[in-house]
Amino acid sequence: AAKRLGGNTFHYYSHTLQESATRRMRLDTDLRSALENQQLAVHYQPIVHLSSGKIQKAEALVRWQHPTLGFVSPAEFIPVAEASALIIKIGDWVFQQAIMLAAQLRAVHDADFQVSVNVSPVQFRLNREGWQHWAEHLARLKLPGKTVAVEITEGLLMESRDEILNQLLLLRDMGMQVALDDFGTGYSSLAYLQKFDIDYLKIDRAFVQNISSGSSELSLCEAMIVMAHKLGLKVIAEGIETEEQCNMLRSIGCDYGQGFLFSRPIPANDLYELLGRTL
Ligand code: C2E
Ligand code: MG
Ligand code: MG
Ligand code: MG
Repeated sequence: AAKRLGGNTFHYYSHTLQESATRRMRLDTDLRSALENQQLAVHYQPIVHLSSGKIQKAEALVRWQHPTLGFVSPAEFIPVAEASALIIKIGDWVFQQAIMLAAQLRAVHDADFQVSVNVSPVQFRLNREGWQHWAEHLARLKLPGKTVAVEITEGLLMESRDEILNQLLLLRDMGMQVALDDFGTGYSSLAYLQKFDIDYLKIDRAFVQNISSGSSELSLCEAMIVMAHKLGLKVIAEGIETEEQCNMLRSIGCDYGQGFLFSRPIPANDLYELLGRTL
């Protein structure tokens, strides 16, 4: 069928498909040694308490500097890692990095400082051993579970298998908090918020981007915030880029904000310095 589109089209099409398959295989191969070769790093994006202006939390985001391909986005390589058990190794490493930073910040700046870590559904699915090793890492640093918020997506909550949902409960048993990431882009069922005892709702950047007075996005954000508060959740708005967006969100009662307006994701040392200056 593709051939009927004409020589050039066929050629071009098959070429790009081939190219992306090759790149994916390349990423898969190279990612296996990326940790050992110190090509991975964790950056942290500050999460600001909107009414006080204080940075009380930060989200850990993994970075890959490939020796020849340059910066590869997690949006591209996380799915590659998820296709094998590699995501477990990377996820464990990110967790350990994040709590080491949290331990320092809790000692020096803010005793309640919290780091959030993204955990994909695949990490729950492949995690046969449970979370005992995470509990041990926390214990070694004498940190309470509350030091960490795990960011999950609605896809996980829609999982029907109990053994996967039970894993979420295990994290909660360890005292960790749970944030529902990218809220508003999926099914956004209110029932989940209630059923799974979620602590934070993260409003997706797509809503924040188009928030302006009188916009339907503003109404939607306001509705999400009212609903979340009624259910006892705190709200974090993602992707705040302008003062105007920040002011709007503050005026409708949003608790926390995260976005380029405050800071891009930055290395641990930079966050350390940033906190020294602002707190
Ligand atoms: P996410 O968890 O929703 O993370 C927020 C993304 O929005 C980050 O992209 C962040 O850099 C970006 N962002 C933050 N503020 C702004 C803003 O004001 N404007 C714009 N345009 N973007 C903003 P990033 O770091 O590229 O990560 C993409 C996704 O990759 C994350 O989305 C998360 O789903 C996944 N990811 C990143 N690190 C990890 C990890 O350690 N483990 C797992 N499982 N997934 C990860
Ligand atoms: Mg996240
Ligand atoms: Mg998000
Ligand atoms: Mg997002």
